[in-house]
Amino acid sequence: MRIKLFFLNFIYPPVPTENGVAKLAPCGTRKIEAALLEHFKENEVAVVPPDKIEKFITKETKVVGITSNDPLGLGPASTTFSGSKGFIKEEPYNAWKFRELIEKLKRYDVKIVVGGAGAWQLDDAEVRRKLGIDVVVIGEGEKVVPELFEKIIRGEEVPEVVHGEIVEPEEIPIIKGATIGGIVEIARGCGRGCEFCLPTMRRLRSRPLEHILKEVEVNVRSGNKFITFHSEDVLRYKAEGIRINRRAIVELFESTMKIAESAGFSHFTLTSVASSPETVADISDIVGVPNKKHRWLAGQTGIETGSVRLIEEYMPGKVKPFKPEEWPDIVEQAFGICEDNSWVPCATLIVGFPKETEEDILKTVELIDRLKQYKSLIVPLFFVPIGRLEGEKGFSVDDMRSYHWELMLSCWNHNMHWLKQLAEDYLAKMPRVSRKFIMKFIDWIINKASSRVVEYMEELGGSGYIISK
Ligand code: SF4
Repeated sequence: MRIKLFFLNFIYPPVPTENGVAKLAPCGTRKIEAALLEHFKENEVAVVPPDKIEKFITKETKVVGITSNDPLGLGPASTTFSGSKGFIKEEPYNAWKFRELIEKLKRYDVKIVVGGAGAWQLDDAEVRRKLGIDVVVIGEGEKVVPELFEKIIRGEEVPEVVHGEIVEPEEIPIIKGATIGGIVEIARGCGRGCEFCLPTMRRLRSRPLEHILKEVEVNVRSGNKFITFHSEDVLRYKAEGIRINRRAIVELFESTMKIAESAGFSHFTLTSVASSPETVADISDIVGVPNKKHRWLAGQTGIETGSVRLIEEYMPGKVKPFKPEEWPDIVEQAFGICEDNSWVPCATLIVGFPKETEEDILKTVELIDRLKQYKSLIVPLFFVPIGRLEGEKGFSVDDMRSYHWELMLSCWNHNMHWLKQLAEDYLAKMPRVSRKFIMKFIDWIINKASSRVVEYMEELGGSGYIISK
């Protein structure tokens, strides 16, 4: 219960509201709101957080749209750490909160439409009917949702599954309200072709700078001083194929810094970092990290594996313009460039690829050992069969062998090594009391919980491998 409260209050606290309307909302929700406002009047659309939704439902309300990244808790992070396949055999919070919201909405005479990055989880008709969801929108929703809502309002029959359409970058609507985390979308899609990934299917499209700056303004006006650029790889903004467009990225950050206090990004790729270290340095120079408030810029990135064989099998496009055999060196080189420019990679690994062998995992363990000296976090995630690997068997904690536990232990030790310093840096700008409280919790993890976890993993991975601490 205490952990639940900690998560609900500190990790994802409720968003601020004004008369019940959300002041901040997920970027995807804002996009759909903007698309709807091109078809409906302002007083006919409201963005409301789940805990206030019931106050907004009247006899006039016909449709409630929900954005969810992970409605059933089937995404890689949820399946790894929770649920029947994960380490903690409890329902993932995502799934629990989603179910709670749907239960609430079912009491009203409204159509429930679900979209967002996790909509693929609701493709199964039986799952949808059991939950009580009327329609699911899979893919990009901006073009299809306004017409869908209009049909529902007119009482017309609509399909239970609606597939979105690719939206050209100039047509991606400009958001009207601020986003959680000051997220501003700069590009969509990726196209590098990794077989386990969904954005891989969509070609890269970069939005016009003026549209991005309008969204920066919307956020700054609402009090978001820090802007987080969202794309699959910040360094591929307006890229020509895989060639980095340094000038466009510099222009993006320079013009943003004239409006916002600072800016960062959600994702980057290690290949882009290694192929254009000067652009990494440009970004850090423009935003001025490290500084008192922001000691570094952090972003999510994918290592996925240290095995050249798995790179060749599932993601040769990920390493371009380099060759698969260069991957472990590229990863280390990129981590070094990040370190030199005050970037902190929060890197993911994928465990349990269908054709994975013990040798592949040991290659990854070796790579993690090489990354020990670089300030970073490394998170192993279980393979989830999506993208082109849909239909393959997913991985679960029950499939883990001793070498998987060894990998977990390497990641755990790496993260414990950096956790305290990262937390101190990150919390420096927080009020003293909250900072003290969170640091106490982190100290407890490092000093008490960690030794128990290490003991447990050593026992399970204790097959004679050398485990570096
Ligand atoms: S590089 Fe990343 S976003 Fe692009 S296809 Fe590969 S995993 Fe997906």
